[in-house]
Amino acid sequence: MYANVSFPISSWKVFTYRVPAELNSIIQTGSRVRAPLGSRGSVQGVVVGLEEQVRFKGRIQPISEVVDDVPLLDQKLWELLSWVSQYYLTPIGQVMRSAIPPRLSRDYEGAQLLEVSVLEASVETIELLSRKAPKQHDLFMAILETGGKTLVRNLSHISNRASAVCRALEKKNFVELNTVVREPSLKRLKVESVKKDVKLTPEQKQIADTVSHPLEKGGFEAFLLHGVTGSGKTEVYIHLAREAEKLGRTSIILLPEISLTPQIAGRFCSVFGERVAIWHSRMTQAERRWTWRQICEGHYSVIVGARSAIFTPLKNIGLIVIDEEQESSFKQESPAPRYNARDVALMRGKLSSAVTILAGATPSIESFYNQAMGKLRSLRLSSRFGNAHYPKVHVVDMNRERDIREDPSVTLSRLLSEKIAERLDKKEQIILLQNRRGFASVMICRDCGETEVCKHCQVSLTFHKHEHLLKCHYCDARRSVPACCLKCGGGLRLGGTGTQKVEEVLVRKFPNIRYVRMDLDTTRGKGAYAEILHRFGNGQVDVLIGTQMIAKGLDFPNVTLVGVVDADTGLFLPDFRAGERTFQLIYQVAGRSGRGDKPGEAVIQTSNPDDPAIKSASQLDFDTYYNICLNERKELMYPPFSWMSRVELSGRDRDKVKSRADNLVKKIQERPKGMEVIGPAPCPLERIRGQFRYQIILKSMKSKDRNGERFHAFLSRHFCEEGGAQPKSGVRMTIDIDPVSLL
Ligand code: ADP
Ligand code: ZN
Repeated sequence: MYANVSFPISSWKVFTYRVPAELNSIIQTGSRVRAPLGSRGSVQGVVVGLEEQVRFKGRIQPISEVVDDVPLLDQKLWELLSWVSQYYLTPIGQVMRSAIPPRLSRDYEGAQLLEVSVLEASVETIELLSRKAPKQHDLFMAILETGGKTLVRNLSHISNRASAVCRALEKKNFVELNTVVREPSLKRLKVESVKKDVKLTPEQKQIADTVSHPLEKGGFEAFLLHGVTGSGKTEVYIHLAREAEKLGRTSIILLPEISLTPQIAGRFCSVFGERVAIWHSRMTQAERRWTWRQICEGHYSVIVGARSAIFTPLKNIGLIVIDEEQESSFKQESPAPRYNARDVALMRGKLSSAVTILAGATPSIESFYNQAMGKLRSLRLSSRFGNAHYPKVHVVDMNRERDIREDPSVTLSRLLSEKIAERLDKKEQIILLQNRRGFASVMICRDCGETEVCKHCQVSLTFHKHEHLLKCHYCDARRSVPACCLKCGGGLRLGGTGTQKVEEVLVRKFPNIRYVRMDLDTTRGKGAYAEILHRFGNGQVDVLIGTQMIAKGLDFPNVTLVGVVDADTGLFLPDFRAGERTFQLIYQVAGRSGRGDKPGEAVIQTSNPDDPAIKSASQLDFDTYYNICLNERKELMYPPFSWMSRVELSGRDRDKVKSRADNLVKKIQERPKGMEVIGPAPCPLERIRGQFRYQIILKSMKSKDRNGERFHAFLSRHFCEEGGAQPKSGVRMTIDIDPVSLL
């Protein structure tokens, strides 16, 4: 027998190997193997097909070994990965490497620990020990105190030779020693289980019933659940996952960034206990391997996880939920495959005949449109649970504020300051959003106007006050703060507000305020997120200041004020989704206010109060904004009215990058009707980490290419065959299907 193997290299070529007789019965399509690959030696790849005969005429080498001794994938998961490979134009070897933990063999067994249990505990035994062997006696009593069974290492405070003493007791048949396998600790996420008494409200129940129907029937059906924040979407997911479990089926719940939302995970844990697995980006390889194996063996009913959880080998899936489906964290930017877990989820739902629910308070424009077109069935939760009401929103025009106060650098408006003071008096809590970290986002020369930029990237450096450093937020380069302009010697001033500045201004105004800051800089350490949220949750601090991290998923009933310090931060990014993102961010963070019995308020500070995204978000007017947005997209032929992909060329030599980009565009002059090519043009961030970047955007009108087949055929003809297979040119090409960022 012969096996065709694909390797995690950027080539579509498959290589043929002989299957040694002893591996005949083990190797299947989808097995991972190691095999010699030219000068690279033995490389891990995946079997994409088996054949009795070969067409290849040269010398055929044998496969060296099979990597996993557990079955890796079932047929459906294999089909899913193959689809990902085709759709995202990524060789299957690369898809496998990204989707599956490196090695899943049984040699990983967790820690082996010694456990001691008491066999005989009569008065005579104790008395005998006490007389003849006082050390053994003490240890024996300690074991009895634990209830008669404990890990030997827990006895180290009694004796520093606990295991030897236990062995002595074992010899006398008073105790028994066993080796137990300790599961790797999954507690790093610090999921606190959250108990709640829940009876669905009539509105929630109606939704649950609508979904239960196809769930019971066991077919694929896709929904868009559009529910305001606090309407009980999470309770509905929990209810449905339970229903699925009753039917003997499993559920996958995808959350945007699970380490940011330990609360939601905690709610699942409290209901499903040991039957829920958590899958997220901060797991170690050992934890991944172990969990993967447990999933294969059918230990779980529910997986709650970040985007890569969509590839876990859960069997018999009945329900897939993608919470906050519009979030860009569902998109993998790098490495390939640049998949969007939301779209993969829909495909997995189809392949598994599972009900698939895209959900969110501010769905993506694409899903909103798909629902309007009938591709997604609409579900709506329009009121908040209990006494919670949507907050009253105030918009502060910062242009006026600056004029009136004759201060060009106002950070907190009078209104926001007043509201903060009010909350502090009432012992209620406050969330302040400023979607930029550091102190000031630019440092500019007062005389010549030169800004301090990164040596490697074409972006200005951010001033970090605590460390007194300039930092690049793209490549993390650091520089000391110059005393004066390096070009002309002029004085420097700071511009643009970051979270550290908000912190400083706040403390100046309210000297005794208790606050905590949550951004990339304060959450690098293990468990740091959970710690911050914990402190805020139990009222140790009054104010939570943070970047977009704090906009999602948090549920703190005592928060009655949300302030958006600068709503315009992302508004003018050169990306057609800039408005949509701004709308979603403001709308979401406003929703953090007034989740309990007390009414909430939000104050949005902006210099563009008439911008449609900001205006509609502050009026909580979803439909108006989405319709404006859809009209714009239609006119410009952007998604959801077109299929889109982005080809990026990058390299150290700008001329080479540019000429390769020009050549590519020349080659695709001839193209089907309804297809449009933009570029090549330098990316808005032209240089990152010393790499010059050019991009070509391709679009294909959906009205002329309904399911995108023509577009895909075109892309794979022009961009796959050669793939990245021009290593020597010094120019790297990557292709991104359905890009979410055009920066
Ligand atoms: P969403 O996910 O839509 O933001 P949640 O599910 O977090 O909303 O619900 C908001 C709050 O209301 C949570 O504290 C939740 O436990 C509570 N809640 C929602 N529905 C119910 C219910 N039927 N019974 C009890 N509590 C509920
Ligand atoms: Zn940089």
